[in-house]
Amino acid sequence: MDAFERQDLTPIVNASGTMTYLGASIVLPEAIAAGAAILPRFVLIDELQARASTVIARATGSQAGFMTACTAAGISLGIAGAMTGCDLAKVEQLPDTTGLKREILIPRGHLISYGAPVDQAIRLTGARVVAVGEPRSFTRAQMEAALAPGIAAALYVVSHHVNCPAQVPMAEFIEICHARGVPAIVDMASEQDLKGPIAAGADLVIHSAHKFLGGPTGAIVAGRRDLVSAAYLQNRGLGRGMKIGKEGILGAMAALDAWARRDHGGARNAEAARLRYWREHLALVPGLSVATVPDWTGNPVERLEIRVDEALAGIRAWELADRLAAGRPSIHVRDDRMVEGYFYLDPCNLHPGEEVIVAEAIAANVQGAIARGDGRRISFADRQRAIIAAAEQGPFTDGTAT
Ligand SMILES: *Cc1c(COP(=O)(O)O)cnc(C)c1O
Repeated sequence: MDAFERQDLTPIVNASGTMTYLGASIVLPEAIAAGAAILPRFVLIDELQARASTVIARATGSQAGFMTACTAAGISLGIAGAMTGCDLAKVEQLPDTTGLKREILIPRGHLISYGAPVDQAIRLTGARVVAVGEPRSFTRAQMEAALAPGIAAALYVVSHHVNCPAQVPMAEFIEICHARGVPAIVDMASEQDLKGPIAAGADLVIHSAHKFLGGPTGAIVAGRRDLVSAAYLQNRGLGRGMKIGKEGILGAMAALDAWARRDHGGARNAEAARLRYWREHLALVPGLSVATVPDWTGNPVERLEIRVDEALAGIRAWELADRLAAGRPSIHVRDDRMVEGYFYLDPCNLHPGEEVIVAEAIAANVQGAIARGDGRRISFADRQRAIIAAAEQGPFTDGTAT
């Protein structure tokens, strides 16, 4: 029996992509080996981070970089660093911002939640959020008007969570910030373009280590050496609770190295074969229409979009997703557009053969709903209420009660 069975954990098939709540990604053997090799040893963490800096600089084109606990941590550290600079007294003073520039400009449409609200990662430091524009647009003029002397930094988020079609492109955003002497920080947690933001002039960019890179939980903070140093100095302040261990640092370095050597074409072909299989099998299921769609933030990734016609399928998109998740194995689909009646299958984190399990479970659940007539009962609002209630209830039982 392995630890998974001993702990009676629910077996998962992940057709959703890289989701923190599922353990993010299939961690690469190289990253696992690196973490295991360093765990029993001691190391000067500053020295290890300096080695990481070299690896990060090579991968991103930045002057320097370091590893931290996760992207959300990287955002807080970067914002804090922009406020304090390399002044330890100021680092220890946060979240009290007396005497510091404390306003952070962010496009209103970038105020997303990745499981927690990005504005909280900013406010955590004592900073104040200055949102510009409207939820789905912002302009150069709006930015220029908002870039007052109290602005310590500006944050730009590139993500599938962002739905802001009429926006200033990242490179222009950075240029506008620089014209006012304001550092531009970019959250690219899920984006595979490691060199783009630095090439566009970003002062700091944060990538997740545990998403597309397939590293252990962590994040890469890359950028201008002075701002990287200021962000890193927060480890002696509010960053203490965001620390990454030696295994996370070396594991992320190994994942970055492996990324540079990975057969990306081969990986894409394997994903394309799964998408083809899904398309062929699921097109035959009543009430489902399927299409292969590209990732819309520009990652070289395709997914299968499944639209559920509830009258024909006898079930709503979210009911189907919830029944898939309640099955064994528990199958997780990508649900960010669920309210509109469709979801996606993402092939990037499947183990070989799991595409068959996914297709068969989807077909069986639709056929079952049609046969039993037990679908179309739960509204999206009710489902969201239940999700929040379950989160507030928590996953724990009373360990003293058994
Ligand atoms: C996932 C994500 C985050 C949070 O990443 P963690 O590394 O899990 O903290 C932040 N921003 C964006 C855009 C994300 O996609």
